[in-house]
Amino acid sequence: MQAPRVLQRQVLLAQRGHRVSLFDRQSEIGGQLNMAKRIPGKDEFFEMLRYNAVQLGLAKVELHLNTQATASMLAEFDEIVLAVGVLPRDPKIPGQDDPRVLSYLDVLQARASVGPKVLILGAGGIGFDVAQYLCDAPDAQPVHLQAWQAEWGVADPRSHQAGLAPAGPKPTPAARDITLLQRSPGKPGEGLGKTTGWIHRTSLRQRGVRMRSGVSYLRITPEGLWVSTSKQGSGPQQDECLGFDSLVLCTGQTSNSLLAEELKAAGRSFHAVGGCRDAKALDAKRAIREAAELAACL
Ligand SMILES: Cc1cc2nc3c(=O)[nH]c(=O)nc-3n(C[C@H](O)[C@H](O)[C@H](O)COP(=O)(O)OP(=O)(O)OC[C@H]3O[C@@H](n4cnc5c(N)ncnc54)[C@H](O)[C@@H]3O)c2cc1C
Repeated sequence: MQAPRVLQRQVLLAQRGHRVSLFDRQSEIGGQLNMAKRIPGKDEFFEMLRYNAVQLGLAKVELHLNTQATASMLAEFDEIVLAVGVLPRDPKIPGQDDPRVLSYLDVLQARASVGPKVLILGAGGIGFDVAQYLCDAPDAQPVHLQAWQAEWGVADPRSHQAGLAPAGPKPTPAARDITLLQRSPGKPGEGLGKTTGWIHRTSLRQRGVRMRSGVSYLRITPEGLWVSTSKQGSGPQQDECLGFDSLVLCTGQTSNSLLAEELKAAGRSFHAVGGCRDAKALDAKRAIREAAELAACL
């Protein structure tokens, strides 16, 4: 069971002389970072994963890809570290078995085809990332510096006062009609980073992505998603139907406890790190810290 940024722990343990085996049911190391790396602006994760793959090889970690670990398979090991991540949270919306409903895994991992009119449910980090991803056409190339400068209306400050381009910002309109919805009232993506959240909101708004908060999801029918919204959070509830070609669920994550349950039933002890330990407020920083703390104890 490997965790993307927890890979450093396996390297550390192997360098200390432990015999370390790493199992992942996927065909590549990296877990969710293989989705993150596809988001425009996050392509540095390609290099991070390449670096970790080299380090695993140098430390002679035995890698078992395409291998779903089970309790019986792990019986021969003295210590077991679970880094099996998370599962998408099920929002339990009546009618969500509609074939137009996708999860972020379908979109970012399985590359499911997404229609021109899209609703994204959930305006956390993953909802924003999915919106950013779907703004681009499927064959879009990574944005280079000049395109980025044109989009934001910035220029070289040596030749332009205050670094502002005379033409102003020229954002590329989104390739799809996208609406991002969130249940809680208030600013969409409130939980995004303090210093970067405004950039994500501005970038999506500039490209024409609509954002709505304080929305309750009632049901999905052939006509669309029925929602209830209260104006200014206190007025009477109003039901309305939002049409869509594709609806992407980005409604949170829960810890993946499947293997943990199996191991408990077999009477085996284990250590858990990252999302399978606690799915809340999970990011690379936390997982690396947990991994380092654990490696120091083993
Ligand atoms: C779209 C997106 C963008 C993100 N952007 C960022 C970002 O910019 N910065 C940041 O810090 N974080 C980001 N994250 C979050 C980050 O990817 C996660 O916090 C991190 O990957 C969680 O790591 P983890 O170790 O808990 O597990 P995961 O990354 O979920 O990995 C779990 C691994 O366990 C494997 N597995 C599960 N069960 C088994 C089994 N029984 N046997 C074998 N293998 C198994 C899975 O195949 C998977 O590879 C992003 C996530 C997503 C989805």
